[in-house]
Amino acid sequence: MSDIALPSKDEEFREHHTQKTRKCLLCTTNFESEWAGERVCKKCKATAAWRQG
Ligand SMILES: [Zn+2]
Repeated sequence: MSDIALPSKDEEFREHHTQKTRKCLLCTTNFESEWAGERVCKKCKATAAWRQG
């Protein structure tokens, strides 16, 4: 037996808190944005980083 963290009310609480599922502007994939201004998923951010200089 091992310690398994089961999804619990904690998850609901978190969703309720600040994280929102948004659609990435670049790849239109649903991702969890950590703040209101985040509109691009982390993947695209990583690949588009070079664009921003
Ligand atoms: Zn993306």
